[in-house]
Order: sequence, then C-alpha cells, then structure tokens
Amino acid sequence: MMKVIEKLYGSDGRKIVELLLKSSDGKSIDEISQETGIRVNDVRRLLYEMSQEGFVAYLRSQKGDSFWYNYRWYTNIAMLKNALSKRIDNVVKVLEERLEYETSTPFYICPNDLTVYTFEEAFENNFQCIHCQADLTEFDNKQIINHLKSLLEKLKKFNSSTL
Ligand SMILES: [Zn+2]
Repeated sequence: MMKVIEKLYGSDGRKIVELLLKSSDGKSIDEISQETGIRVNDVRRLLYEMSQEGFVAYLRSQKGDSFWYNYRWYTNIAMLKNALSKRIDNVVKVLEERLEYETSTPFYICPNDLTVYTFEEAFENNFQCIHCQADLTEFDNKQIINHLKSLLEKLKKFNSSTL
C-alpha cells in the first residue's frame, strides 16, 4: 500500500501519510512540515492532491471567537484502502473502454509513416494514406488487446486482494 502511495505522490506523499497514520487526532500543515522536514507549500499541495482522491481529509474547527479556522489533517487505513480501490476501479474502467474500442473496429496503418487509421477513416480515404497516398494495410492490434487484457486481470486481482 505505501509503495503505491509513493508511486502516486512521491516519497514526500508517503512520509505525510505515514505521519498521519501514527497520529490519533490529526496534524496541522505546520506540524506536518516541522515533523517531516517537507516545505509548507509542498505539504499543502500534496495534501490537496491526496484529498481530491480521498486518501486524506481534514477536520475544521474555529479558533475561539475569531474568524480563523484550525485545519487538522488525518487519514486511516480504511480511507486509504477505499481511495486506492476507487482509483483502481477508474483505471479498470478506462482500460475496459479502450479494450472495447480496440476490439470493436479494425485498424489500418500506413507502411511509410505509420499513421494509424480507424476503419471509417480508412474507408473515407479509399484505404490510402492522407499524407503519402500509400495503400493502407490492416493493423494487427492483437498484441495491444492481449496486453490490455492481462493488465485488466492484474488490476482486478490486485483490487480484490486484501491490500
Ligand atoms: Zn503515409
């Protein structure tokens, strides 16, 4: 899990998540910066990015009677798992759409400049390249399809395993 977070948000992102996991009542941005040695601006940016996908969140409380608010950032294992699983689901969706596209239509390619055409595009141009007028040949996308399929299988397995 931490490896994936590091992949997504770098070693600084990982440090922040590890710190937040250890804290019972959350941390302010200043505290995170002091305890990790990461610059305040970077902490703020990373927290924002990670919160967009639900890896972290904050609690806001008013500072006494003032207009100022305290923000305490937090996370926990359940939140991390959930966010990661959502992210994987999105990737799976994109890949499935891509796979559907790759399998639904034949592709054509120009042997000279390797421009790729869909069937419709090739048909409209009399199966000739619009750049060099060479005859197009059918493009074998089996490899791409197989690659997508195995990638999908891995992702689904990964998501259903205990993270
Ligand atoms: Zn061409």
